[in-house]
Amino acid sequence: MGMALPLPPASQGLLRSRRMSFLASPPLSLKAAGGISIPCPWRLDGRRPRAAPASVPRLASVRSVVLDIEGTTSPISFVTDVLFPYARDNVRTHLDATYSTRETKDDIALLRAQVEQDLAEGVPGAVPVPPDGAGKDRVVDALVANVEAMIAADRKITSLKQLQGHIWRTGFECQEIKGVVFDDVPPALERWHASGIKSQTYIYSSGSREAQRLIFGNTTYGDLRRHLCGFFDATIGTKRDARSYYEIWQTVGVDRPSQILFLTDVCQEATAAQAAGDHLTPRFASLKKNATPRR
Ligand SMILES: [Mg+2]
Repeated sequence: MGMALPLPPASQGLLRSRRMSFLASPPLSLKAAGGISIPCPWRLDGRRPRAAPASVPRLASVRSVVLDIEGTTSPISFVTDVLFPYARDNVRTHLDATYSTRETKDDIALLRAQVEQDLAEGVPGAVPVPPDGAGKDRVVDALVANVEAMIAADRKITSLKQLQGHIWRTGFECQEIKGVVFDDVPPALERWHASGIKSQTYIYSSGSREAQRLIFGNTTYGDLRRHLCGFFDATIGTKRDARSYYEIWQTVGVDRPSQILFLTDVCQEATAAQAAGDHLTPRFASLKKNATPRR
């Protein structure tokens, strides 16, 4: 088993979260904190806790770190203003150019299955996809309409994420897109790498594993995958389902779920992760949100 993470004592400061309404003391940077800052328990009514928690997290037991991307390692704006528009604007071009490839046939099959389910459930924006015999143009038209609706609704579904990953791959390969991470992420990854848990840092995002590898393999700081052990996506389960974190624990292979530190900016994800563990170690912290991303 690797060395314990060299984390500082638990901070009493909550970090600013763009997705949660509560705020607390001024955001701490990873540099200033020397590692990860762990928020004390928060109140879901948005108010700060009146007193420090009775017990502080036992960070010395942490053997593995699992990182969310959107809002945690990377600005939400990178996803909403760069990645999503790029995929949306290139759906038709991508499908037209790759329609007959095995990969795109698989993508279309997944989308068809999702659309059929959406139609049965009355999901807004879902439109029938004609059979292949109707011709490429009609099929692509219907797929584009469905994918645009899925993107607009920010659906966290495998069929969409897989297609987006393939579209983004082209963007990264031709350098029209660069992965954006907060400026304290690379030094944090390097520090963990050097600390002896270099094989124990993972990514868990609803974006496909391929997309995750593209983002971290093509950041403005270079290829950060050398600091990462692996990637989890929605195929292991949704991020708000405790079972997903149980599966991650089983895959990571540490003795107890409490030895895994999951960093996210979404309260429901932290709650789900907590439900999968025991009650000894924190499962939630946020990386600094106000760091200046290098573009
Ligand atoms: Mg997030």
